[in-house]
Amino acid sequence: MAEPVFRHVALIGIGLIGSSLGHIMRQNGLAGHVSGFAKSSATRDKAIQLKIVDEIHDNAADAAKGADLIILCTPVGAFKVVAAEIGPVLKPGAIVTDVGSVKEAVVRDCAPFMPAGVHLIPGHPVAGTEQSGPESGFADLFDNRWVILTPPDDVDEAAFKSLVRFWEGCGSNVEIMTPDHHDLVLAITSHIPHLIAYNIVGTADDLEQVTRSEVIKYSAGGFRDFTRIAASDPTMWRDVFVHNKDAVLEMLGRFTEDLTDLQRAIRRGDADRLFEIFTKTRSIRRRIIDAGQETEAPDFGRHTTGSGSD
Ligand code: NAP
Repeated sequence: MAEPVFRHVALIGIGLIGSSLGHIMRQNGLAGHVSGFAKSSATRDKAIQLKIVDEIHDNAADAAKGADLIILCTPVGAFKVVAAEIGPVLKPGAIVTDVGSVKEAVVRDCAPFMPAGVHLIPGHPVAGTEQSGPESGFADLFDNRWVILTPPDDVDEAAFKSLVRFWEGCGSNVEIMTPDHHDLVLAITSHIPHLIAYNIVGTADDLEQVTRSEVIKYSAGGFRDFTRIAASDPTMWRDVFVHNKDAVLEMLGRFTEDLTDLQRAIRRGDADRLFEIFTKTRSIRRRIIDAGQETEAPDFGRHTTGSGSD
């Protein structure tokens, strides 16, 4: 096994993403030692039982003390409190990164608490499932998935290279973006799709002329696929929308305009327009398959591995 990329890694939060990182670090020998913080005693017990970490703490500062790489893996709404807690104990030269689904808010919430000599390099693995908690993680979650890093302009080159090496060691491909561009791209590729899923599942649940048992019985008509996404963790997604308000509202405006276009085509019986739109969208799926981000296999009872919730 190769030399660990980092001597000591601290996982702050041990849910789907934190536990998956723990598994892959162990499997690929990426860290010499892994400490962890989890809020609940149930998660702390699981983290030890499943060998996700070598040591576990009930506060973030104790987990982060002495670490070379600290990875924030809680919902983004908790980052500010965590950053304030760990700031005073971070050692010079340490790298603080995160896996949050939003990036501008991470810089805004965390940067003020980073002491001089500590490198804040935000990140986001574009990989996930609708599952949550320490038991839902698996080692190949990040395999062949993109990780977007949003380093500051004056990033320390050596720190940045180590972080890239770490993610590549997890099997990921690394891309660099500015935080605001990340938030715009993810608003349309992830956040709006989740909003649509939450909305359509909620609407179906509220219908009065169609019974709930009919919704469940005939769900294979398309509804079922939305329910998978709409089963994603409510805390995580609440925080995403609260912390990516501007980009989501901008993309939602575009989405609403296009929905109105479809509505008009249906009302006017404009078959050509509908056919044109549906043909274009089909080709986008082909491009996603060709890019290796989805498989062609029919998807009855989709299994979790690699099928993104984020
Ligand atoms: P998760 O499975 O729900 O786990 C969240 C973890 O954070 C748990 O260990 C939980 O502790 C802890 N936590 C929750 N609220 C906290 C608080 N207020 N203070 C301290 N700790 C708290 O979540 P996840 O899916 O791994 O997501 C974690 C991060 O990854 C989020 O920022 C999310 O945006 C990002 N992300 C998620 C996905 C995805 O598909 N799920 C993909 C990419 C990125 P307890 O277990 O003790 O309650």
